[in-house]
Amino acid sequence: MAVAAASAREAGEKNATASEGPWRITLDAPSLVPFLEHSRRRDLREKVYRAYITRASGGPSDNTPLIDDILSLRHEQAELLGFQSYAEASLAAKMAPSVAEAERLLKELRSASYQAAETDLDDVRDFAASQHADEAGDLAHWDVAFWAERLREQRYAFNDEDLRPYFPLPKVLDGLFALATKLFGVRIEAADGEVPVWHDDVRFFHVLDEDGRRIAAFYLDPYSRPAEKRGGAWMDECMGRARIGDGSVRLPVAYVICNQAPPVGGRPSLMNFTELRTVFHEFGHALQHMLTRVDYSLAAGIRGIEWDAVELASQFMENWCYHRETLVSLSSHVDSGKPLPGELFDKIVRARNYRAGSQMLRQVYFSLIDLELHHRYRPGHGETVFDVQRRVAEHATVMKPLREDRFLCSFAHIFAGGYAAGYYSYKWAEVLSADAFSAFEEAGLDHDEALAATGRRYRDTILALGGSRPPMQIFTDFRGREPSTQALLRQSGLAAAG
Ligand SMILES: [Zn+2]
Repeated sequence: MAVAAASAREAGEKNATASEGPWRITLDAPSLVPFLEHSRRRDLREKVYRAYITRASGGPSDNTPLIDDILSLRHEQAELLGFQSYAEASLAAKMAPSVAEAERLLKELRSASYQAAETDLDDVRDFAASQHADEAGDLAHWDVAFWAERLREQRYAFNDEDLRPYFPLPKVLDGLFALATKLFGVRIEAADGEVPVWHDDVRFFHVLDEDGRRIAAFYLDPYSRPAEKRGGAWMDECMGRARIGDGSVRLPVAYVICNQAPPVGGRPSLMNFTELRTVFHEFGHALQHMLTRVDYSLAAGIRGIEWDAVELASQFMENWCYHRETLVSLSSHVDSGKPLPGELFDKIVRARNYRAGSQMLRQVYFSLIDLELHHRYRPGHGETVFDVQRRVAEHATVMKPLREDRFLCSFAHIFAGGYAAGYYSYKWAEVLSADAFSAFEEAGLDHDEALAATGRRYRDTILALGGSRPPMQIFTDFRGREPSTQALLRQSGLAAAG
C-alpha cells in the first residue's frame, strides 16, 4: 500500500497515506501484482486486469502495426544472412542446436506441466468455494492471483521476512565460501584494505587454488543505497583473464553487486531467502568469470558463452539453497545463535514448488509464441499475430486468454529486449542447471568425497572452459551425456511417477 500511496502523491494527492489512501494503482508490476493478489474488490481487479492485457493496443500508442513491421524486418535480415527465418538466425549463435530441438524441449515441458496446471486451477477454485466466494462458480482471470495467494497463506503460513534473523550476512558468506572450497577446491580470503574501494561497505577478496596460488579476486558491494546505486543484483567484470604482452597472465577480477538490507542498529545485515538466493546466483556467475582457464580474453570467463547457456552457472548455485545441510550451515539466529529449524526448511522447500505446473506452463506458452512468430509466421499471409497467440494458447494455457487479450503489444522481452526467438532460454538454462545439479545428487549430497570429485569435474569443464568451446560439448564432458529435462521436472515436482 506504501507503493500505491506514493504513486497517488505523485499524482497530486498530497495527503495520501499507506493506511488511509487514496491509492493509485498503475499497470507496472510492483503496483499491479500486489493489487491483483490482495484486493478484495473484484470489480476493481477486473478493471485493472483488463487494462493490463490491452496495454499499448489502441489509440496513438497502438503497437499492433509495429509488431508486424519488426517481424518483417527481422525476417528480411535473416534471409540476407542466408537463414530461413529469424529464429534460425538467432539460434545459430545459441546452444540450442535448432528450432526443432528448442520446440521439442518446450513440448516436453508442456506435456509434463499441463495436468499439474489444471490441478492448480482446480485447487484455487475449490479453495475459493470453501471460502464461500461468490466468484468460485465462474472464476475469472482477475480472481486467480487473489485466491492463489490466499491458498498459499493457508498452506505454508510463513513469510520470507520471518527468515531474516537466521541469515546474518557474515555467516552466509562463511557458508558460501566453505561450499566453494568443498566443491571446487578454491579458498576465499578476505583482503579488505588492500585495494581502494568506492564505499566503506565494499569488501575485497582473493581466490586461491588448492596450492595456495592466487587465481582471481572479487569485490562485494552487498547493501542497498538507493540514492546512488541502481536496484537489482549483478555480476560484472572488472578485469578478464588474458595472456598479455610480456607473456604473463592477467588474473580475472569480478564485481558482485547486491541490494540487500543494510546493517541496522549495530546488527549485521539480515537476509531474507530471496536475498540469499541472489547472492548465490551472482556468486555463480562470478565463479565462472574467475575460475576460467582460458587465456584468450574474448573467450575467457563468461565472455562468448551462448545466451541460453550463461545462466547455467548462476542457477546451479541457487540449488544449494534448497539443500538442507548447506542451508543450515548458512544459518545462525542473530539473537540465539540457533540454526534454522527443520520445519522452516521443509516449508521453504514445499513453497518452492507451489503452482510449479502453472508457472512452467506460462513460460512455455510465451516461449512457443515467440518461436512461432519468429519462425513460421509471415505478416500479411492470413493469420494475424493475435491468431497465432490464440492458436498456441489452445494447447499451452489452461484458462484461455480473453478475446481482447493483446499482451503481445507489451511483450517487451521479444520486441524491445534481447529475447527475440530466445524466450525459451529461461527454460533451457533451467534444464541445464537442474541437470548439472542432479549430477551432484547422484554422487550423494552428503558424501563429501564424491561431491568433491563431481565438483572438480564441474570446475574443470563448465567453470574453466568459458566460451572457448561449444556449450553442448562442455556440458556433455561434465555430465557424460546431453542434457535431459528429467531433473528439472523432478525438482519442480512434475516428474511422472515411476
Ligand atoms: Zn544471472
